[in-house]
Parts: sequence; structure tokens; C-alpha cells
Amino acid sequence: MTQTITWMKHGTCRDPYLSPTPNVFFPSGETGPWVAVIDKAKSICARCPVKPQCADWALDTRQADGIWGGLTVQERGRILRQQDRHPGMTIPQALNSLRGVPLADMFAARIHQRDDGHTVWLPSGTSLSVDGRNRTPRQIAFRLAHGRWPDGTVRGTCDMSGCLTTGHYWDAAMRRAAAETPATPDLPVAA
Ligand code: SF4
Ligand SMILES: [Zn+2]
Repeated sequence: MTQTITWMKHGTCRDPYLSPTPNVFFPSGETGPWVAVIDKAKSICARCPVKPQCADWALDTRQADGIWGGLTVQERGRILRQQDRHPGMTIPQALNSLRGVPLADMFAARIHQRDDGHTVWLPSGTSLSVDGRNRTPRQIAFRLAHGRWPDGTVRGTCDMSGCLTTGHYWDAAMRRAAAETPATPDLPVAA
């Protein structure tokens, strides 16, 4: 860039007090340990007064790296493809049309399946916003495993606290059902 674009001077990421870690804006990936880094960058963009200008600029100039305007490279790619298909579509419209699909992807990008069979959650934050509601990793894991949101508290059955491996967590409805199941009748004893 040969000249400083005026809006850039107002970016929250330029403020050393509000944004002490500029490197979070250039993650080397979008999955695994990078998810927490990206979430941090996005939280800084969320408070930025020039976020719309920044997002527009990054899309117009096809920035191939970095978080700009709260958007990752992959998200900008998806928005550009949406805008190609639907000329005139705004960024919020393009983002809206992408919402709802990637719960499984969102989850998969934030977990690590360990060799010992346990699954750990990687980001430092303990919930994710899904369709406008905060959901815990366990609620999301339950939803993906059972196709419904849990009824009541999800409790882990794994000896490793916080493990997200499928089947290592039950909701209140499952606990009730297990308690109500009648005992298996004794098999007839052969005479
Ligand atoms: S939106 Fe994010 S990347 Fe863009 S100027 Fe603001 S803080 Fe920096
Ligand atoms: Zn486990």
C-alpha cells in the first residue's frame, strides 16, 4: 500500500491499549489452535468504528491474508462467491445467507480428538453464539450427536471432565428415561 487510507488510522487494531496483540490479525490457519486467535481478532474488530469500511476495502482489494473487518480469508471468499451469484448483495445479506449451515464445521474447527479417545475444546471462550443464542460446547456436541438441543443440563459421563466425545454426555431427558426403564425380565430358566 503506498498511502495510508484515512479510515485505517481509526482502526481499533491501531490502538496499542485496545489491541495489544496485532499478530492475532494474521493467523496461519482457520482451524485448531488458530480458532482462539481468530476469535480474539474478531472481538477487537467488533468494537472498531471503521469495521464496515475495513470489510469493504478487504473485499474490494481481494486481501489474501489476515482478518479485516471481522472477516477471515475463508469468510471473505464465501461472501465474494455469494456476491458473484447475487450481484448487489450486501455483506450482511451475504453473511446471513451463509448462517445456519456450518454448525458441524464450526464445532469441528474448535475441537481436537485425542489419540486416547477423549475430545477437547480448544478456544479459551466457553460458549459460541448459534442462531443468536449462547451455547456451550457440550450443548453443541449433544445437538450434533442427537439432532436436537438438549433438555435441561448436559452432564458428562466421561472420566475426563469436559470431554466432548460423542456419547460422553447425557441430557435430563436421557437420565429420566434411563431411570424409568423397567428392569429386564429374567430369562426363563430351562427346566
Ligand atoms: S475492523 Fe478490525 S482489522 Fe479493520 S481496522 Fe478495525 S480492528 Fe482493524
Ligand atoms: Zn472422554
